[in-house]
Amino acid sequence: MRYDCLIVGTGLYGAVFAQRMREAGRKVLCIDKRDHIGGNIYSKEEHGIQVHKYGAHIFHTSDERVWEYVNRFTKFNNFVNSPIAVYGDEIYNLPFNMNTFSRMWNIKTPAEAEEIIKKQREESGITEPKNLEEQAISLVGRDIYKKLIEGYTEKQWGRKCSELPAFIIKRLPVRLTYNNNYFNDIYQGIPIGGYTAIIERMLGDTPVILGTSYRDFIAENMKKDDPDKFDLVVYTGMIDEYFGYELGNLEYRSLRFEEEYLPDNENFQGNAAVNYTAADVPYTRIIEHKHFEFGKGEGTVITREYPAKWNPGDEPYYPINDEKNSKLYESYRELADKEQNVIFGGRLGAYKYYDMDKVIAAALEMCDKVLA
Ligand code: UDP
Repeated sequence: MRYDCLIVGTGLYGAVFAQRMREAGRKVLCIDKRDHIGGNIYSKEEHGIQVHKYGAHIFHTSDERVWEYVNRFTKFNNFVNSPIAVYGDEIYNLPFNMNTFSRMWNIKTPAEAEEIIKKQREESGITEPKNLEEQAISLVGRDIYKKLIEGYTEKQWGRKCSELPAFIIKRLPVRLTYNNNYFNDIYQGIPIGGYTAIIERMLGDTPVILGTSYRDFIAENMKKDDPDKFDLVVYTGMIDEYFGYELGNLEYRSLRFEEEYLPDNENFQGNAAVNYTAADVPYTRIIEHKHFEFGKGEGTVITREYPAKWNPGDEPYYPINDEKNSKLYESYRELADKEQNVIFGGRLGAYKYYDMDKVIAAALEMCDKVLA
């Protein structure tokens, strides 16, 4: 059987690609090394609750094209992400907004908050933030940095805030209004029926071979005398792995999830996401999945998320976009550019701390180019 396109990985990037290619009449084959489709957005129903098996995913975007596209494959509920931060016996709203500031400093008005942040920024002497620590202090002051950022971030990334790039903290909004919405985007929600259903609908009747890595697939199916079996390969695995790590290993950050079903508890924490920001709590957050769907399900399922050192062979969740790794990635990128008829995409293929909507946008754009 001959296919036009081989897609390696059935996460969002691969699934969007498969969908667009098939729609354009191309013959597509997908492979995935896991025993299920969906990559890290994979969700599974347990006890009537959609459980996000690889960490919480909340869809949000301001990109009209992406929103329109993804709504072809699901309906979204009107969930708004408003995480809670726990620091010792203190509780704060996230992202950093007037609710956070008023609890922290016992104040009421934006002018008062602004004044305190300005004073703490001036005391720190930071004018041009060069790393995450300096960026955080200059955005929200030292008190918030110490209680809500430093411990969480150092657990999450396994290194000092002063050694991390500033852009990571800029993912979070800072607002002088009483608004606990974690995102600034105009569209947000959780897909009704779960994320896996989106991928299923995108893939349609595309054949998918599960439990098969690219390396094994090539070894088994593509003999040296048959190099043109596919016109195009879309590779969404780790870019350094594709090249056999020939320039060295890119670094990643991993996660370990501890899931627990509590049959006699209908409401464990009253919110989908509760962050534990102190350094002495080993996990960064607890997700209570039923709250993504406004309390549906019997009992409750919670997941504690433990950041973990990544070793080759572990699941890579986050690329480490520091200077050293970014440089190494650029060298792999040069190799990738020379690779005929192979497209690299997704969080691992592009080695980028992408959100879901950005992955879809990148895949749609690349498909436009391929199909032009
Ligand atoms: N962060 C923090 N305290 C929190 C939540 C987030 O300091 O309570 C910082 C931390 O450095 C984290 C970054 O903000 O890596 C981005 O957080 P986000 O929630 O966007 O991370 P993700 O959900 O992608 O893991």
